[in-house]
Amino acid sequence: MKFPKDPWKIVEVGYKPSQLAENESVFSLANGYIGFRGNFEEGVMPWHSGAHETFPTALSIKGTYLNGVYETAPITYGESAYGYAKKSQTICNVADTKGFIIEVDGEVLQVSTAAEHMRELDMQAGVLRRRFTYTAQSGAVLLIETQRLVSQVNKHRAAMRVSLTCQRGVCEYRILSGIDTSGKATVVSDDPRTATGKDTRLIEVGNGCFDAKTFDTIAFDSMVDFQAQQVGLWASQRTKNSDMAIGVAVAYSMESSSIDGDFFVFAGAVNVGQAVVLDKFAAYYSGEAKHIDSYVASAKEEAMRAAAEGFDLAVTKQKEFYNNFWDAVGMDIVGDDATLQGLRFNMFHLLQSAGRDGQTNIAAKGLTGEGYEGHYFWDTEIYVFPFMLHVSPAIAKELLMYRYSILDHARNRAREMGHDIGALFPWRTIGGEECSAYYPAGTAQYHINGDIAYAISSYVSFTEDYEFLFDYGAEILVETARLWYNLGFFDPEKNAFCINCVTGPDEYNTLVNNNVYTNMMAKQNMLAAMDALGLLKTSDPAKYKSLITRLDLAESEGLNWKKACDNMHIPYNADTKIYPQDDGFMHRKPWPIDEIPAGNFPLLLHYHPLVIYRHMVCKQADLVLAMLLLGDKFTPEEKKLNFHYYDKITTHDSSLSKAVFSIIACEIGEYEKAYDYFMATARLDLDNTHKNTKDGLHMANMAGTWLGLVQGFAGMRCYDGVLSFAPCLPQRWDMYTFKVHFKGRVLQVSVDKEGSKVSRVAGEPLAITIDGVSVDC
Ligand code: BGC
Repeated sequence: MKFPKDPWKIVEVGYKPSQLAENESVFSLANGYIGFRGNFEEGVMPWHSGAHETFPTALSIKGTYLNGVYETAPITYGESAYGYAKKSQTICNVADTKGFIIEVDGEVLQVSTAAEHMRELDMQAGVLRRRFTYTAQSGAVLLIETQRLVSQVNKHRAAMRVSLTCQRGVCEYRILSGIDTSGKATVVSDDPRTATGKDTRLIEVGNGCFDAKTFDTIAFDSMVDFQAQQVGLWASQRTKNSDMAIGVAVAYSMESSSIDGDFFVFAGAVNVGQAVVLDKFAAYYSGEAKHIDSYVASAKEEAMRAAAEGFDLAVTKQKEFYNNFWDAVGMDIVGDDATLQGLRFNMFHLLQSAGRDGQTNIAAKGLTGEGYEGHYFWDTEIYVFPFMLHVSPAIAKELLMYRYSILDHARNRAREMGHDIGALFPWRTIGGEECSAYYPAGTAQYHINGDIAYAISSYVSFTEDYEFLFDYGAEILVETARLWYNLGFFDPEKNAFCINCVTGPDEYNTLVNNNVYTNMMAKQNMLAAMDALGLLKTSDPAKYKSLITRLDLAESEGLNWKKACDNMHIPYNADTKIYPQDDGFMHRKPWPIDEIPAGNFPLLLHYHPLVIYRHMVCKQADLVLAMLLLGDKFTPEEKKLNFHYYDKITTHDSSLSKAVFSIIACEIGEYEKAYDYFMATARLDLDNTHKNTKDGLHMANMAGTWLGLVQGFAGMRCYDGVLSFAPCLPQRWDMYTFKVHFKGRVLQVSVDKEGSKVSRVAGEPLAITIDGVSVDC
């Protein structure tokens, strides 16, 4: 284990240069909008002329991100074809405000020569802290402590504190700080899971100093010595192609300072026992480039307001926020601190990275790195969404509102893909357009439509927010249902509705006919559209009329969907009770996993895609995921048989896989297996078991661990609007507990060696099912 066990903190003891980049991901801070990688304060200002430390890219990935701010570039194909995605979208590394360069008696402080280095992520407080000492050649010893937070209370703010305490001698110090606009995309490799290394460098439009009262720009050269509280720094940047811009400003707490280049210098001397504290407040705004001036103006005002409120208040508010969050999560595991730490870490990061403004979403790596170029995938709806639904239904709703905000793009994409009706959501995107340049394992994953529809249905059934359904959800359900009907056809030979040439969740079997997961989710999607329309018609006939007029929806469409659902082809072998993942699955060449050299995993990095695609081998849960999401469509016997069948042929090369296997293993009573799979997910990023944590944290897996606890060990399901549990307790644990939101209630579930208890913490009484028995709660 890389980090000592601690239920609420991630503590790094010592300076670990070989773990620098991966721990920068681990120590990231974010608030759904601003994302700061856990870069060291003194290691992130390469433009400073002093002899400070600059880390080679492989070791350190300096990153500051704003959710939704991306650069575009034409995708160049060796051989192109009609309808290929045209432009990439890549999250930008924006102006960095984390930097402080500290000089002691004229020496630039370097972490590699500092002593007693430690840093801790305090998940109860939402604050990152560091502490180390530095002995200058003069013999003076300085204790350096830093704190950093990205405000969960105010989307636009971040705050930092540097404290210097003299422990021996007299220290002359200089602290240099400013805004660094040199950031660029830093993650480049042959691994398709990282970024492409495209030039996403932003253009600096302006920068300067501003008067705290008037916000007017002041020339740097007129400020030789000044009162830092009366001025601030600002910068603006824009993208080259995507027409986006950002404005950023910082304000400081110290009284006097001077200027060196374009950053502020705070200097003085401290005697033994004396301390000096410098606070820095940053504010970010972003959006369409045409509003760049207003982003700068807002950032200036916000930074000044933050400075006026002060660092301590920012810390207090952050703590209050996290108190509420942890109360909503209500999770504890007694008897296994390492796992508890892993799960809390995962929950913490999910909250940090999830967009919550209806215009942004949660990237596969959150706001912690540039892996997968900052793209949003189905990971959101199938993994992260259920966690949010139970912990913060408001954020869950905003994630769905993001999909609504890109519905027009999905409509356009459907046309481009030859569908004259309906909407096709992009496999990977930030702004809404399809960005997948590899269609077999990308664009062909039409199941994204069904995944979004599934999330909408769960949201409505768990929250009873019919207003959302009528105003937004129904429209998405109709447009996605239309797409399915248009995509499939009635195959006379099979005498069934078939969906051909798509890729299911399993990316090692591409462009297949009748992927069970896809067909079942498509059916679910069309049924949900029919239900939503029926409900709307009876609840609000005027709104219904306006929707069908706006969508030009013919009555025959509903009848067609019904026919397609009634006749949906689901590959199934009645003799073995095995569901082949798709029509051709059983005809692929077997490739026993235990015969593959251990060093050749993940297969995608060692074999040409065609080699993989022609074998009967799976990257991730596909059919097994269908057995989780649509569990009432499978018999217990089928679940057992199919779990064992797919368990043997799945490599789990995707981090999205094991959590799902763990949940179904629980359901079929394979508790040891369930526990092993669960444990492989619980600390994946904390222990860097996939060896790519440096590119960012694996958000879907992180959410999968919550699902593993709640849907796996506690067996939570919801069929036909009834919530049920089938709890079990891993042998090594004494107890676990968590909370869920359900139809306006908050329920606390506790499971220990004596049994299980579900108590209602808020809301009206309701009936639930525990181990198949209906109980009042
Ligand atoms: C998985 C996909 C996932 C993507 C982003 C891939 O490795 O196979 O299912 O959406 O990663 O997390």
